[in-house]
Amino acid sequence: MNATKAFAAHHAHDALTPFSFDRREPGPHDVVIEISHCGVCHTDWHFVNNDFGMSLYPMVPGHEIVGTVSRVGNAVRRFAVGDGAGVGCLVDSCRECDSCNEGLEQHCQNGFTLTYSGLERDGKSVTQGGYSTSIVVDERFVLRLPATLAPERAAPLLCAGITTYSPLRRWKVGPGHKLAVVGLGGLGHMAVKFGHAFGAEVTVVSTTAAKEPDARRLGASDFVLSTDPAELARVANRFDFILDTLSASHDYGAYVGMLKSGGTLICVGLPADPINVHSLNIVFTRRCIAGSLIGGLPETQEMLDYCAEHQIGSDVETIPIQDINGAYQRMLKNDVKYRFVIDMSSLH
Ligand code: NAP
Ligand code: ZN
Repeated sequence: MNATKAFAAHHAHDALTPFSFDRREPGPHDVVIEISHCGVCHTDWHFVNNDFGMSLYPMVPGHEIVGTVSRVGNAVRRFAVGDGAGVGCLVDSCRECDSCNEGLEQHCQNGFTLTYSGLERDGKSVTQGGYSTSIVVDERFVLRLPATLAPERAAPLLCAGITTYSPLRRWKVGPGHKLAVVGLGGLGHMAVKFGHAFGAEVTVVSTTAAKEPDARRLGASDFVLSTDPAELARVANRFDFILDTLSASHDYGAYVGMLKSGGTLICVGLPADPINVHSLNIVFTRRCIAGSLIGGLPETQEMLDYCAEHQIGSDVETIPIQDINGAYQRMLKNDVKYRFVIDMSSLH
């Protein structure tokens, strides 16, 4: 077994504390990755607090994992010791349903295996995530990390990056489109970068006036302060697409009203409350409300390669793991520029 140091949550709402556990011995298809950095996603906070009612404790969060391959099983073909590697939100799936065969493992019809707080295919081994020194993953679920991306700026691409890249690609957002990004946090700042890179006209809709200069620096050409009703009225019926990244409950109807006739609100944020929109708000205008979940392995690799080619990384604040609980508190106050990333050397 491989002794692994980590930080873990032991109960909902408790602070994370030092923890150690054993990773499995690598099998023939497994890759062992020494983790250098792991991003801090708002979903980690949702899981630490059991917001979705599916948390398993003790829980080592973290699904924006990058590092270096330190061992490979004897059947591994795509990785060698010393390669840069990344792991996102899923570490396995059934590998045989239609979704898996299409490279949409996140929609595995038999349920994909979450990187943490999930169950391996044996139905009993609990997965543990990237706030740890190493991880063992089947090579099919490991991404190649382009050498030209700084690892700390690449880590958030494994979740925040693919979660925003995938819907913008699926709906072919590009030149001639007006895109609003709601919420300038970890997901939101990546959505602005991608929307701008794909040629759309990007507007940031935010509750934090002080984020306007950053929104424009990241690629937005307009900024809407969502706490100001006059500002909301200014952009009524304006957008082809809205990407809603909000982590907290909010009035979706207020954002739907910003769509043009036929426009689409794409929801990626995961607030606890249902989406409650009046039928008149969509029927009279043929507006659409859609959802999107991370991305499959092939598209995640495509996104990483795109980022390497266009030198797109996340804007990060690097922290030692001992600061994780304070980082969560700052994230809850919308005070992150724009992703915390744990430097895992602090754990050795
Ligand atoms: P984050 O960094 O905390 O950013 C969320 C942003 O939403 C904040 O920075 C803030 O932006 C805005 N916000 C927060 N509370 C708000 C409130 N009460 N009212 C209005 N705006 C508020 O979080 P994240 O990591 O980007 O994650 C965002 C959400 O996406 C979470 O729910 C997460 O679980 C979910 N998620 C979904 C997927 C998926 O596959 N669909 C993947 C990853 C994460 P402003 O300061 O600009 O207002
Ligand atoms: Zn995430």
